[in-house]
Amino acid sequence: MVVDPGDASPVIARCEREGVTLAAILATHHHGDHVGGIAGLLARWSVPVYGPARETIPGRTHGLHEGDSFTVPGIDLRLSVLDIPGHTAGHIAFVAHAATPPLLFCGDTLFAMGCGRLFEGTPRQMVDSLDKLARLPGDTLVYCGHEYTLANLRFARAVEPANSSLGERERREKATRDRGLPTLPSTIGEERATNPFLRIDQTGIRGAAQQHAGRALGDRAAVFAEVRAWKNAF
Ligand SMILES: [Zn+2]
Repeated sequence: MVVDPGDASPVIARCEREGVTLAAILATHHHGDHVGGIAGLLARWSVPVYGPARETIPGRTHGLHEGDSFTVPGIDLRLSVLDIPGHTAGHIAFVAHAATPPLLFCGDTLFAMGCGRLFEGTPRQMVDSLDKLARLPGDTLVYCGHEYTLANLRFARAVEPANSSLGERERREKATRDRGLPTLPSTIGEERATNPFLRIDQTGIRGAAQQHAGRALGDRAAVFAEVRAWKNAF
């Protein structure tokens, strides 16, 4: 199974190296760097393509909404669907609740210590989507769409310098990247402890956002919007 194949060739190369065939393609949202490889994979393997019902996904055979669940053919993995709009209007996540540990495929909504930009949604929608992901069990493995971890870490330290969990995570993630390895997946527990976009209720983050804005901020969505705008310009 492949999630969000922006490019077909590394997937084909990996399947050949492992001596396996592809069972299914999953897409979380319509951006080209997540669906650009689907046509090339379908040219090689005739497999189902699971994607959001509300977005245009090349070759999609199963349009999905929150509440849908299905078993990936051939690999016996049960997945449930969550609607997580904000980065795009129809963005979905796939959750394997019964796996040990549980697995989350969340595209460009939640990153390690970051979140996606709001291209098609509102701050309120994104806060609701991130809340939904933050409620998953702490040991859930977070497979997100991009390796932005170290850049996000620099921003997280600027927003919440007193968070000691960030220093500890920085040492670990830098060592991982120095060995040429991906920092992903992370876990929901790590994200709750270090991701500023999941920590907008912390007084330190609200204070930093208000200082950055130069004014008092209202509800949680206003705090989130300020932190997101700060990151965009960081
Ligand atoms: Zn995207």
